[in-house]
Amino acid sequence: MIRVSVVGAKGRMGSHVVEAVNGAEDMQLAFALDAGDDLSVITPGNTDVAVEFTVPSATLDNVLALIAQGVDVVVGTTGWTDERLDQIGVALAGAPRANQAVFIAPNFAISAVLADHFAKLAAPYFESAEVVELHHPNKVDAPSGTALHTAQAIAQARRDAGLAPVPDNTQTDGGSRGQVVDGIHVHAVRLRGLNAHEEVLMGNAGEQLTIRADSFDRISFMPGVLLAVRKLAEGGHAGLTVGLDRFLDL
Ligand code: NAP
Repeated sequence: MIRVSVVGAKGRMGSHVVEAVNGAEDMQLAFALDAGDDLSVITPGNTDVAVEFTVPSATLDNVLALIAQGVDVVVGTTGWTDERLDQIGVALAGAPRANQAVFIAPNFAISAVLADHFAKLAAPYFESAEVVELHHPNKVDAPSGTALHTAQAIAQARRDAGLAPVPDNTQTDGGSRGQVVDGIHVHAVRLRGLNAHEEVLMGNAGEQLTIRADSFDRISFMPGVLLAVRKLAEGGHAGLTVGLDRFLDL
């Protein structure tokens, strides 16, 4: 049995993780902790992997504390910058246990990770590419981190293939053409009733490819979270790994 502790267990994501761990035949819940709880109870003696879904202002300190306590961590909280990731790398280098691992995924939805991958594969074959992300109106950032990542991946694939910039003869733009990310236009829709959706549009003369990922419910993130927990528990992923694509054997 893989012993899993959840940090942020009362939150929207954390409570789903608790449920998913309780429902997994190969896992057992060690601790379910939330704001104000003492994380120092989580040790290798009782926990194989901790799952952290809290808030961007708390996640770095939580992960550093868990590393210092010798525990592997799967992190879903957003707000990671290169500087923060470097701090995790440094902490892991001096971690108490050999082969300690931290895994961070900006998006645990397998559909979104695959859409990103397929967009990267298709990008060299199309003259035009744009990204549209659609979310519930409570989301605070636009465009989404996933859409930014998709646009950057498309741009890199186009560069590697030696493609010219996407054609666009817009002369006046009051903002309708969206944000230009690395040469790729990214559009954000906020609509009541939506959850998290992304569409990648690619066009050539006379043809179009649409890649669309829809996450209708937070439950869509759980297979990815459980996959990451299993990967860390089986070992062989020492250090910092970022992105669920690394565990999908693509
Ligand atoms: P949420 O409902 O606000 O849950 C966060 C929980 O963490 C709350 O119960 C909060 O308690 C608790 N918390 C705050 N500070 C803490 C601390 N220092 N130690 C332990 N617990 C603490 O948020 P959510 O919707 O679950 O989202 C959590 C994070 O996951 C966000 O960053 C979100 O963007 C991210 N997310 C990632 C993915 C992905 O695929 N990677 C998917 C969805 C969401 P209080 O309410 O008492 O402060």
